[in-house]
Amino acid sequence: MKRKFYCLISLALTAAMLFSSCGGTDTDETTTEEIDAITEAPLSGGDSSSESTTDEEKTSEEAVTEEKITYIGTVIGYTSKGYVISRQNGITYVENILIANKTYSLPESYNPGTLLSECQKAFSEMQSAAAKEGLNIWNASGFRSYELQKSLYNRYSDRDGKEAADRYSARPGHSEHQSGLAIDLNEITNAFKNTKEGRWVAENCHKYGFILRYPEGKEAQTGYMYEPWHIRYVGVNMATKIYNSGLCLEEYFGITSAYAVTEEETTAEETTAEETTAAVIEETTAAVTEETTAAVITENTTEAVVG
Ligand SMILES: [Zn+2]
Repeated sequence: MKRKFYCLISLALTAAMLFSSCGGTDTDETTTEEIDAITEAPLSGGDSSSESTTDEEKTSEEAVTEEKITYIGTVIGYTSKGYVISRQNGITYVENILIANKTYSLPESYNPGTLLSECQKAFSEMQSAAAKEGLNIWNASGFRSYELQKSLYNRYSDRDGKEAADRYSARPGHSEHQSGLAIDLNEITNAFKNTKEGRWVAENCHKYGFILRYPEGKEAQTGYMYEPWHIRYVGVNMATKIYNSGLCLEEYFGITSAYAVTEEETTAEETTAEETTAAVIEETTAAVTEETTAAVITENTTEAVVG
């Protein structure tokens, strides 16, 4: 009798343990992994993969969903082409690519102080590859702080007027150079386009993770005049996709690049649908705290939203 009783007790205990491990623990583990991955994700996001994940875990994950993307920070919405927009520490990302343009600014406090290491490394590789073909490419202007951009923009604006300056110089907080992911090459002139170096960069920089950020004929989309010398690091995968698409970054993602309009600059009916979307997204951002558990959305979800 006694033995039977103990058996029943231990059975009940085992069942209880099994039940609890199926319930809470798995969820907790997933959450921790997701948070770790978010913390480790690089700013440019290009070719990120969580180092903490073992090969075995990767294989089993891949079996479930082909590509599971962990987004940086908090997902706040989608672009007009269905790409994920997320925010962290006041920085906006689309598909984990940092965005700095006329619509999306960087915080004044964001100051890496130099080019980000992945950008510097990729540039050095590209420079060496060019050198092997007898071409000389150099970094004429890389990282620029908020303060430096402020003095540059004010100088141009005083000299040429605000409207003209806005076509070639970014207002402080809106310069891609503040991100530490952009480089101006060689003499920083339009003549660069027709040099051997300029042609080589246009055709090859994507192989090293760079895109020509302000291509010819795309001023309406990028908000800037053609700049054959300005390259932006987005990682090899994304750079190759954008290069093959023939689109500029804004077109590829379906985002705008326009300064928020002030009352004296425009009337209400000039506000485009895209600007309205951007405003809604900004409102959503304000409502959502950065601490909110970041949503991890699979490719399937994204497709469902796009479709
Ligand atoms: Zn530049």
